Order: sequence, then C-alpha cells, then structure tokens
Amino acid sequence: MSTSLSGVRVHVVVGVLLSVLCVCLPVGPGRDGLYTLISFGCVALTAFGVRRNRPRAAGGWRFITAGIAAWACADLLWAVYTWVLDTSPFPSPADALYLTSYVLIACGFWRFVRARRGQGDPEGVIDSLIFTVGFVLVSWVLLMRPGLEAAGESTAARLLAAAYPLGDVLLLAFLVRLLTTSGGRTAAFRWLVVANALLLVADCAYQYSQMSEWYSGGLITLPWLLGYVSFAAAALHPSMRGLTDDAVRAPHARFTRGRLVALTLAGLVAPGTLLVQLALGSRLEAWAVALSSVVLFVLVILRMSGLLRRLDQQTSRLAEIARTDALTGLPNRRTGDAELARDVARAREEGLPLCVAVLDLDRFKLFNDTYGHQAGDQLLVQAAAAWRARLEHDGVGGGAGRSVMLGRWGGEEFLLILLGYDLAAAAAVLEPLRGVTPAGQTFSAGVAQWDGTESTAEVFARADAALYAAKEGGRDAVVRAPHPAAVG
Ligand code: GH3
Ligand code: MG
Ligand code: MG
Repeated sequence: MSTSLSGVRVHVVVGVLLSVLCVCLPVGPGRDGLYTLISFGCVALTAFGVRRNRPRAAGGWRFITAGIAAWACADLLWAVYTWVLDTSPFPSPADALYLTSYVLIACGFWRFVRARRGQGDPEGVIDSLIFTVGFVLVSWVLLMRPGLEAAGESTAARLLAAAYPLGDVLLLAFLVRLLTTSGGRTAAFRWLVVANALLLVADCAYQYSQMSEWYSGGLITLPWLLGYVSFAAAALHPSMRGLTDDAVRAPHARFTRGRLVALTLAGLVAPGTLLVQLALGSRLEAWAVALSSVVLFVLVILRMSGLLRRLDQQTSRLAEIARTDALTGLPNRRTGDAELARDVARAREEGLPLCVAVLDLDRFKLFNDTYGHQAGDQLLVQAAAAWRARLEHDGVGGGAGRSVMLGRWGGEEFLLILLGYDLAAAAAVLEPLRGVTPAGQTFSAGVAQWDGTESTAEVFARADAALYAAKEGGRDAVVRAPHPAAVG
C-alpha cells in the first residue's frame, strides 16, 4: 500500500504553516523546541514514507533519511548547547553531524542518479561538472575565501570554514547531476530537487549572513525547515518509487534549450566574476578566475569532442543504413546505381569490359502465396547469402581490373555488376548461382555487356529486356542481351 496524495497535501500544508509559525516566534527555547519538533517530525515522516511506499531500490532513500536525521540531531544538539548547557563549543559534535549529513544526502542522490542513468552518461557528468565549477568559483569568492580569512589562525576553524561550503558544493553537484538524468520528472522527483535546493539556499544565505551581517533575522532558518518538509513530501509521495524503480534508462537525456542556457550561464561565471569585480572595484580573484576558466574550457572541449564523436558514429551508422538493404544486408538500389556509374567510368578509362545482370526469382508470388510472406522474406535472405557465398567461393571479382557487386534492386530482383568480365565470362559467373538458389527455387536473369558508349540506364535496360526474354522463354534461364548494334 502506498501513501495517499491527500496525505502528502496535508503534510505539506501543516509543515509549511508550522515552519512559518516557527520562524515568526521570538528567539528562545520555545522556538527551537518547535524547530526540533518539525525537523524530527519530518525525519519520521520520511522514514514512514519509505516504509510505506516500498521502493525496490530503497538505498538512496535510506541515505536521505539518515542524512536529514543527522541534520536534525545536529540542530537539536545546537539547541541543547544554547539553551540547556549555555555554551557554544567550537568546533562541536554538531559540526561533525552537519558535515556527515552532507555526505549522506549526497550518497542518497548518487544512488538515485545511478538508478536512473542507463549505461553511463559522460555527457551528463560533464554538464554537472561545468555547473559545479561555476558554483565553486562563486562560492569561493563569496563564502570560502572570506570565511577562511574570518576564521583566523585556528586550524579547526579554517577547516570548518572550508568544509561547509564544500558540503554545499557536494549537494549542488549531485542536484545538478540528478537533473541531468533522463527519466520521469515525477512529483517526488520535484520535491527532492526542491528540498536540496532549499538546503543549498539556506546554507549559502546563512554562511553569507555570518560573514557580511547583511541579515540576522529569524527568517533565515525558514528554507531549512521547508527543506525538511520537502524531503518528507518526496518520500511520502506515491510517485517516489518511480524515481528509481521504473526510471527510464535512456542513455542520453535530450539536450534541451534549458540545458543550453544553463550551461552558457555556467560557462560565463568566470569572466562574469571578473567583470563584476572590475566594475565594483573590489579585490580581483585573478587566480580563482583563471583556474576555473581553464577547467571550464577543458570541460567544454571534452563535451564538444564527445558530441562530435557521437555525431561521427551516427553519421557512419546512417550512411551504412542508407547503403544497405535492410532485409538481405546486400547493397541496395541506391548503392547499385552509384556502383554502376563508377564502374562505367572506370571501364571507359581503363578500357575494361563491363557486364550488368538482372536476376529475378521465378514465380515468387506463388511461393509467397503458398508458404506465406515471411517464408518469402526468409528465402530472399537465404538466396542472397547463398549467391554471395558462391561468388566468393568462385573468386568472382578477384584479380586486377576486376570487381563484382551483388545488390538487391528491389522486391525479388537482384543486380550483379561485373567489371572486367565480358558477356561469356559473366554468363559463366551466373550459371553456378542457379544451382545454389535455396528451396528448389529458380531464377531468370538477363545479362548485357556495356557497349563502350551507352549510358548506365541504357545498358541496364538491355539487361532488363534480356530478363524479360528469359521469362518469355519459360524461365529458369540466363539470357544474354545481343550487342546494341546487332539489335539496331
Ligand atoms: P515471375 O516469374 O514472372 O517473376 O513471377 P513472380 O511471381 O516472381 O513475379 P511478380 O513480379 O508478378 O511478383 C513478384 C512477387 O514478389 C510479388 C511479391 O509477392 C513478391 N515480393 C516482392 N518483394 C518481396 C519481399 O520483399 N518479400 C516477399 N516475401 N515477397 C516479395
Ligand atoms: Mg519481379
Ligand atoms: Mg519474379
């Protein structure tokens, strides 16, 4: 049994109302008590949602639950220090819990990504890295560097000043990575994204406010509370199973316009930072800008080369498809046309003989009517394979100035182009093919030798006329087209 939609709605409404009430309360134990109630309530609801909805791949959800539980414990510890023990140790076990929960939540997201990603997705990884590098630069300029400077000489304080923003980098990286996976954007997916984004916003705003004192009101904790509510909403929502269990494992997410815009903006973060610093006359972060530009540039080049490689592969695949007959795997009519034109040119240049033969299975309609269309298809495949094998066995087309192409002209008609063969030699090539045609099936063929001046269409028409003569003459025969001069 899964949880109900109305249950999720009630949870969200109550959660948001309580969160707003909480941040409106005056700072004190009462406020932190309600805060703890909401956070642990949401942890419990998340665990309940996971139990109730029973996703097959529950690993990601367990990490998320553990992550927000650690977060809630850290919040509680903080409150106990402040209101009960009246101390504020630094660094404290609460810090360790907070940092652990970043890792746990990131692990949860990583499991979701893994479940949704199909067979590897280097492009999604690179896109996420491009985004993350842009975020790291901004975080460095606004949070990490000022934080490190404010931390003074204490190693622990410096480590923590770096660790919190790095925790946010981790969250952002996996958030973006999740967003770059293909697969359904269900309600649970969106709640999860919102939850992670709220956590990020709250964290960054809090860290920034600590350093710049731009804001010190109670509202700053609202996104954290709403983040708890959103995580629980994601786990409670019946669509949470689809996040991993029925995720479409497509190899590539579509390259949407939104992604293009986002990547462009991410790529512009480095020069943008420099421009803003120049315009404001603030301290230039030349090293950070230069380093992130290098990394971004390399990532963009990697992304581009990946795309070009894929384009190359698809181009040759499409070219292959365009050349080949899908049923028999032989060169198709388009290829036959091109080959005939090439061979005529070569025959003219090098003074080689050239013959064109048209083969047509006898009474094939009857075969279809008797054994069915699928059996007919099978026969076409087998005949093509048998003829090709026989040609190879006889070494047809081997040797200097000789080449052969067997193609499917269409329906049950085949084309044989023999460069370096005169009419008698071509007829001698065709003769053994009659014996290997499968299922006792016979064919008729007309063969014409290029007269040295006529067009490809003309020599083909003469071969076709000879085929017609073979059919008229009772089938199961190879008829040689008379020389055009003899006809005229
Ligand atoms: P003929 O000896 O005069 O060539 O008689 P035929 O029945 O072979 O000739 P016709 O041109 O009247 O019919 C050709 C038949 O070949 C029609 C169709 O049923 C069959 N055919 C054409 N293409 C395919 C194909 O791709 N698969 C199958 N199974 N049958 C095909
Ligand atoms: Mg036919
Ligand atoms: Mg036929």
